[in-house]
Amino acid sequence: MFLRTISRLTGSRCSGDCQIFQGYVTLTKGGMMKAGEFYTLTLAGIPIEAVYRNVKSMRLTVYPPDGRVLIAAPAGTSLILIKNFAVNKLTWIKKHRDRFLQKTSAARPAPGGTLKNHSKVFLWGDAYELELIERRGNPKIIIEDGLMKMYVRPLSTKAKKLEFMDKWYRRIIKEAAEPLIKKWETILNMEINKLYIRKMKSHWGSCNYQRQTLRLNSELAKRNPVFLEYVIVHEMLHIIESGHNKDFYRLLSKFIPDWKMIRKKLNSGEP
Ligand SMILES: [Zn+2]
Repeated sequence: MFLRTISRLTGSRCSGDCQIFQGYVTLTKGGMMKAGEFYTLTLAGIPIEAVYRNVKSMRLTVYPPDGRVLIAAPAGTSLILIKNFAVNKLTWIKKHRDRFLQKTSAARPAPGGTLKNHSKVFLWGDAYELELIERRGNPKIIIEDGLMKMYVRPLSTKAKKLEFMDKWYRRIIKEAAEPLIKKWETILNMEINKLYIRKMKSHWGSCNYQRQTLRLNSELAKRNPVFLEYVIVHEMLHIIESGHNKDFYRLLSKFIPDWKMIRKKLNSGEP
């Protein structure tokens, strides 16, 4: 039995961290599983890793903190059997993944989310105390003496303040991401046509490999800068290899050898 990509319904949308992405069902590589080899198949937007192990029957595990799904299968199990096994367990997989992902997002700091004076806010992994200062003139944010000073017009609504802060974080990410993308365009010999920055709940980043565009989550500005570069490189590598398969992880390991540790920290919610 030999299998190539079974079906691809839409373009690749990756999570930057293999969390939640939607759209297509693929088996990235065909044939029988061999010792030490692993494959990623995607079901209902969930990446599922399949690996050969010395086991008698297939075993399915969903791991915290990021809801990584792994199927360990006995030697010689065909990928179509593994896929059917995963399809049958999909409800179970979703339930357990959702539980982990909810916990992960709850553990994540939501700096600036409350926008109360003296609340804790984050920039590049460092905590600051928010100081709201009302005065006339254009709103601005300044980092000074361990404080994030936010100047706003008198009687600004909470929505206006939040909107301004989100815009500020988006600009921070844009300014930091552009030189990093340039650096990796040279290393990877490719070109990114457009960069979008949005505040997103479930993705750190995504990539449209056909249009060669990147989308980054502005929330990355609150975290250690190492995460931004990891997400950028992860997404750019999808232009070379769209799936989460062995070739993709080989590339990732080549360019970011400690990506596993970075991914774990990113999803752990530590700033
Ligand atoms: Zn990915």
